[in-house]
Amino acid sequence: MIDLKKLRKDHKITQKALCTLLGMSQPHLSLVENGKLRLSEQRQTLLAEHFGDLAPYQRDEAAAEKKAEKSSKGAPRKSGQDREKQRKFDRAYMRMAAVWAELSHCNRKKVGALIVKDRKIISDGYNGTPTGFENACEDENNQTKWYVLHAEANAILKIAASTQSCEGATLYVTMSPCRECSKLIHQAGIRRVVYRHGYSDTEGLDFLRSAGVEVEQLDEEKE
Ligand SMILES: [Zn+2]
Repeated sequence: MIDLKKLRKDHKITQKALCTLLGMSQPHLSLVENGKLRLSEQRQTLLAEHFGDLAPYQRDEAAAEKKAEKSSKGAPRKSGQDREKQRKFDRAYMRMAAVWAELSHCNRKKVGALIVKDRKIISDGYNGTPTGFENACEDENNQTKWYVLHAEANAILKIAASTQSCEGATLYVTMSPCRECSKLIHQAGIRRVVYRHGYSDTEGLDFLRSAGVEVEQLDEEKE
């Protein structure tokens, strides 16, 4: 964890300038500075390129966690045991999302999503055409039809049509969300997104992070 506040002070650089350098929004940077989010490896490399050795700015992880714990009222940080348990559930839900993906009629890409709240699956979805339309997702040129709904959008819309709410829920999705779905995810009140494969356009993930949504990749093939 890097102490960005100290780095800014020492190098006399404003928060705005650092945002520009790292390609981050101000809310996103604030979350990182307050120890609520981590700085990606890529951005750490970028910092090192600009400011040289980052060693003086490395913060003790445990101390930082304690500090964050103090500052976040009523939300104690998870212990190592809790984290391991969470990890187990994450893997299980992700496997289920992958099974859901198989239900998709799309040929080009099959994506599955689950929404979990208080350890209960409250919704599911896979990419496909809206109700009442033929199932085929691609046209005769093998292009995906514009009205195909993404897995996470379908899962969120199912909740919208019910009496439930996504507030505070976790979304498990086999492919990282696109820009359009990211807006829906944040607006629906989802607080955490766990995905398996990274989509080439990372704009959606960047948006989610800047909105304060916790984002995590769980790629079991890599684990
Ligand atoms: Zn999408």
